[in-house]
Amino acid sequence: MSRPWPDTGTGTGTGWDPVRLADLAQRHGTPVHVLDAGRLDRATAHLLEVLGGLGRPARAYYSVKTNYLPYLMRRLAAHGLGADVVSGYEMEAALAAGFDPAAMVFNGPVKTDGELAAAVRHGVRVNIDGEQEIEALEAVAARTGQPVEVGIRISPGLPVSTSADPSYRAQAERAAARTRFGWPAGSPQLAALVDRIDASPHLALGAVHAHLSSQIVHEDLMLTALDRVLDEAAKLHARFGLTEVNIGGGFGVPGIRRPRTGPEGALAALRGEAPFPEEEPFLDIARLLPELDGRMRLRGLDGVALACEPGRWLVSDVMAMVTRVMSRKELPEARWLILDAGNHVTPWSGTGEVHRLTPIGRRYSAVNSTWSVAGPLCYENDVHAAATELPEDVRAGDLLCLHDTGAYSLGRSNNFIRTRAAVVAVDGDAEQLVWGAETGADVFALADPDPAGPADPAAPSGPDPAPGTP
Ligand SMILES: *Cc1c(COP(=O)(O)O)cnc(C)c1O
Repeated sequence: MSRPWPDTGTGTGTGWDPVRLADLAQRHGTPVHVLDAGRLDRATAHLLEVLGGLGRPARAYYSVKTNYLPYLMRRLAAHGLGADVVSGYEMEAALAAGFDPAAMVFNGPVKTDGELAAAVRHGVRVNIDGEQEIEALEAVAARTGQPVEVGIRISPGLPVSTSADPSYRAQAERAAARTRFGWPAGSPQLAALVDRIDASPHLALGAVHAHLSSQIVHEDLMLTALDRVLDEAAKLHARFGLTEVNIGGGFGVPGIRRPRTGPEGALAALRGEAPFPEEEPFLDIARLLPELDGRMRLRGLDGVALACEPGRWLVSDVMAMVTRVMSRKELPEARWLILDAGNHVTPWSGTGEVHRLTPIGRRYSAVNSTWSVAGPLCYENDVHAAATELPEDVRAGDLLCLHDTGAYSLGRSNNFIRTRAAVVAVDGDAEQLVWGAETGADVFALADPDPAGPADPAAPSGPDPAPGTP
């Protein structure tokens, strides 16, 4: 088994060849994402090995929203993974990438009638979250006369992260109890939803779905929360005979530090008292999934498939970004390095989430100093790190590698002030541009559309002018 993370670790070795990264940056420009296909293959192999070792049917639906790069999706589909989609256009992209619709699930808090009809037409399973989805699905199924097996999303109502800061814990508990994703385990509202599905002539309840959060690193809290989902699943299995329990994704990876502080911790940090922990633990799926298998067996859920929806876990360290230091600014109260990669291409910057940053491209001084590192945007929160250690002699023109950019970068990036970055895939010695850098012309491609197509002077189109318009 090649994971968890033989080549990322927590030390200096991150597995990326700095000479090759610098060469790619020279030829493709910066900022640029580099995708290592070998890492994706190894992660997938590890996941499939763990799933294959369970004593029951087991499957993984890749969370498409985590990274919808077609090159990456095609590769995962070819490895036999299924897909988790949360919108109609994601469904289309996943189908185009070759995912088997019979191994796809459609999740999310909003699904339009058109999207639900498309899901039924393709044979994609819908995990119901909103009440109105029941009527819409019943109408589609009644038209075709075919029964449709659906799932429901359940929320355990328990937090899956914790902190030494009690004000953070209080915040996390309240957020978990109030979540709008899914229906609370054990609640009368969930019972009513189940009864409505039961009363729908063409719908059959076949699956229970949950997805608790992202970057979950507290395995015990995750298991305690999932116990509530499994308890509910056991009751529903006795009544309906389930085919699948889907625990969602959220498996935490190394290399990413998230602020786990509430208001009290934030105040302490202002006083300089509470630095973030140096490194966070990560989830070991080779422990988590067999443990869940056992907990399912204890509840009589034998023969029911165990499904999961990894996103970040599969792709986080599969991409890294090469960015250039554009400006070094030493002020009386601060020392800044300003990069060409910012919140437009690394949307977690500005939220307090910190990724590793390593200097590449030349020899650097062995002496480190403390730097504040920002992106290029005219926007206060565009900050990668308030304080981090980098060589004393880093200067404008140098290249840095920003690690673990595979999850929630491409799909969440935007063109606020600067355009989106290219992705170059490497596969052994081969190299391929798999997503082009966005240009200003791309940004404005949707401006001034003519809804009627090419203008026909004989038949003026568009809405009638309002009364009184000259
Ligand atoms: C986002 C999402 C996932 C993937 O989450 P990760 O933290 O990236 O593993 C899985 N399932 C659902 C329903 C999601 O919305």
